[in-house]
Order: sequence, then structure tokens, then C-alpha cells
Amino acid sequence: MVQSPTEFFKTLPPKQCVDCGDIIDEQAESYLNQCDHCLSKAEE
Ligand SMILES: [Zn+2]
Repeated sequence: MVQSPTEFFKTLPPKQCVDCGDIIDEQAESYLNQCDHCLSKAEE
């Protein structure tokens, strides 16, 4: 694994979707607990 300043932040525990258990991308809204896929379904 490559050690770099950005890798430091990746050591933080990843958020998991409460619905499907998938890892939520860091770019997702931080206050959400669902992945983009489940969010899109919930909006229907
Ligand atoms: Zn999900």
C-alpha cells in the first residue's frame, strides 16, 4: 500500500449503508446513512 497524506484520511472507519451494508463513498453526504443506490430507491 502506498503511504501518502491522503491515505491518512482513508484509515478512518468507513461508513456503511444501513440498508444494504455497502460502504458509502466518502463523497456522499456525510449526514446520510444510506448509499446513493438506496437513497434513490427511498425517494420513490
Ligand atoms: Zn445501500
